[in-house]
Amino acid sequence: MKQVYEFREGGKDLIPLLGGKGGNLAEMTKIGLAIPNGIIVTTDACREYFRNGKKISEELRNEILEKLETIQKKPLLVSVRSGAPISMPGMMDTILNVGFNDAVAEEVLASIKDETFVYSSYARFISMFSEIVQGVEKKKFDKIAEETKNPKDLIPLYKALYEKETGEKFPEEVKEQILMAVNSIFNSWNNERAILYRKLNNIDDNMGTAVVVQEMVFGNFNNKSGTGVVFSRNPSTGEKQIFGEYLICAQGEDIVAGIRTPEPIAKLQEEMPKVYEELLENIHKLEQHNKDMQDIEFTIQDEKLYILQTRNGKRAPKAAVKIAIDMQEEGIISKEEAVLRVDPSLVNQLLNGDFEEKAVKEATLLGKGLAASSGVAVGRVMFDSKRVKIREKTILVREETSPEDLKGIALAQGILTVKGGATSHGAVVARGMGKCCITGCGAIKINEIDREMYIGGRTVKEGEFISISGYTGEIYLGKVAIKEASYDDDLKKILSWAYEIKRLQVRMNADTPEDVKMGKDFGAEGIGLCRTEHMFFQKDKIWAIRQVILGEEGEEKNKAIEKLFELQKEDFMGIFKNLNGDVANIRLLDPPVHEFLPKEKADKIIMAKNLGIHLYDLEIRIRKLKDENPMLGHRGCRLGVSYPRLYKAQGRAIIEAALDCRKEGHPVHPEIMIPFTMEAKELAYLRKEITEEIECLFEERQERLDYKLGTMIEIPRACLLANEIAEVADFFSFGTNDLTQMSMGLSRDDSVKFLDQYREKGIWEGEPFYSIDQKAVGKLVEYGTRLGREANKNLTVGICGEHGGDPKSIEFFERQGFDYISCSPFRVPSAILAAAQSYL
Ligand code: ADP
Ligand code: MG
Ligand code: MG
Repeated sequence: MKQVYEFREGGKDLIPLLGGKGGNLAEMTKIGLAIPNGIIVTTDACREYFRNGKKISEELRNEILEKLETIQKKPLLVSVRSGAPISMPGMMDTILNVGFNDAVAEEVLASIKDETFVYSSYARFISMFSEIVQGVEKKKFDKIAEETKNPKDLIPLYKALYEKETGEKFPEEVKEQILMAVNSIFNSWNNERAILYRKLNNIDDNMGTAVVVQEMVFGNFNNKSGTGVVFSRNPSTGEKQIFGEYLICAQGEDIVAGIRTPEPIAKLQEEMPKVYEELLENIHKLEQHNKDMQDIEFTIQDEKLYILQTRNGKRAPKAAVKIAIDMQEEGIISKEEAVLRVDPSLVNQLLNGDFEEKAVKEATLLGKGLAASSGVAVGRVMFDSKRVKIREKTILVREETSPEDLKGIALAQGILTVKGGATSHGAVVARGMGKCCITGCGAIKINEIDREMYIGGRTVKEGEFISISGYTGEIYLGKVAIKEASYDDDLKKILSWAYEIKRLQVRMNADTPEDVKMGKDFGAEGIGLCRTEHMFFQKDKIWAIRQVILGEEGEEKNKAIEKLFELQKEDFMGIFKNLNGDVANIRLLDPPVHEFLPKEKADKIIMAKNLGIHLYDLEIRIRKLKDENPMLGHRGCRLGVSYPRLYKAQGRAIIEAALDCRKEGHPVHPEIMIPFTMEAKELAYLRKEITEEIECLFEERQERLDYKLGTMIEIPRACLLANEIAEVADFFSFGTNDLTQMSMGLSRDDSVKFLDQYREKGIWEGEPFYSIDQKAVGKLVEYGTRLGREANKNLTVGICGEHGGDPKSIEFFERQGFDYISCSPFRVPSAILAAAQSYL
């Protein structure tokens, strides 16, 4: 098996084998860009290395040494670089200037005659090698460097430190150095931060990394040399204009580490116009070739440009949308590809919006840094990544972020750093997570010991609130109000394309005319769930329903019911009118009755008075109605069976409202939904009661109207008997929240307490109330759908649980051939996008 490739043998199509970096370097070599020559050790070899008990086999060793012969330049000075098939920026290691020893240094010096350059490169190699291969702390080398003026004197001191720390002599032989470096790059696949990064990004742990061994070019060669990072388009805004930075007389990782603050790329045009022109050409070529925005690393050695890396660039949500649209309009990609380019979760972030203008004007501006990743964040200042907690709004403030901060960045609301540019490591990671980030705010002084910072003439202690804007780079004291949706034209355009492409109907969960308006603006095609009980929590109605529940059985109670549904009819009319002919699925009362009952003493006194009974008697009635285990108690259609008048009156109210609306010229499509069915006879009984009531209404009014009557499927038993239930239902709407609770025996409210521990111990992955558990709950859904459709060819199948807005679950529902999904109005745009993507 071939384990080592030359650049000229590879290409982009071999990325799984050569890694992203290697595959793209090979590809760039093929299309004729200036790429320092090199070889690639495959991911296969890496997997073999781990299978082999972390040893480089004799065979691999020989193949590497043989292929090294193809690198002609002498002396052999190379970088040894990690590169997985999926980009994991900064998570693994790279060693520069490999190949130096005393003789090589002399040799280079003889031709170049620049002692500082030669020995500082040599010294850097020793310290990098020691740190990465042997784990010697970098700061020990830095300390020596601080006390030593002449780079040449560093060499023996560094080697002595190496010997002291490792008990071995520093390897002088180039081949030995390279093999040791390859070995340690393989190992870096399993360092802590790489493992965490893979976990956060769902990357397979078994993939392994490739290793690139590449001829060095020196950005620290002279003042006509340098190194930089450039994006082919602005990764924050998406604007079609290159964006990046560079450092003169520096080596690669100086810029990524964010230690020196670099110059904006535009300045290169003044400093080295020819190189700048060439860079532009290269960028254009790469973008056209790869059909996506590129993130490019380059180095200039003595006014000659070399490209060292390219990949599809991470970008902020706004930029993702704009770039997808622009590239479609420039003819680079199709509409379908454009739709696939935007991650649905980014849409939600876009809708998270910006600060309110008025609030910004009134806020106290503390300072300003570089706007590195768009969005806004409000949270408590935290100076240590380890102190950032789940479910706490935090802004991580750091001198500079390093890959060790990954977990903190993932948990924080926003990131703020003192040093580093817009392409520094923290900025790149934040952007990938769609998180607001400000870098390079030099006005901040952090005092780690007292856990406070000085900025804008003030002291801000850890735990105090600040607000930051990743659009402007501005930092404010305290909490600045955030404006809701920012629903701009670019987003609307990409959603309209998604809308044309998708198959699934996307409905909204909406309880009020206002919800309906918002959902329709977001593209919802009707209502998938209208919870009638929500209407009762509005002022007057709560008293009316209390009267119904607590009132004496008989004439009085029935009167109270009629009155209540007269009120509700008005709500329905408001909803129908705003829907403009779209379907409205209205669910009859679901929650256990006690949720409506008075809890406060004052309320109870009023209630007792209304009913004309003693407070003591009221307490008894309330106690009788209270379930020990309400979620499994007297709720849903069980209320309907106990109090048919309630469901009949609600059904009548819905149809009456529909008839009235139609009379006023609004088309209507009502669906009546019965919750919590566990048995077909339950539904058959209620269907008969409600239908009779509606038939009476039709008789009275001498007019008819088409409507559907169906049920939620949210009890496992109902899934298993879906064929029986489908015979008396026009539609199924899977209530996946309750279905998850009941099939997993997991309470939505209590599971947070222990599921975290499950995840930490590797027993459980994911959040079952967020993304449907396809393995088991999904099986029930699949089974129920199949049985239901077999029994009733006209059955409509949909979902109205929390999962209706989750892209991964939507893909599952698409696969099941559902007719519709339904989610809260705010999630409708991302659901439309996810529906389109899962159809493509
Ligand atoms: P990462 O995956 O962390 O970006 P890289 O392998 O890209 O690591 O290396 C980090 C930096 O080192 C790069 O930005 C590049 O500029 C520099 N570098 C790597 N190889 C070479 C080389 N052969 N010549 C000059 N600079 C290099
Ligand atoms: Mg790189
Ligand atoms: Mg339910």
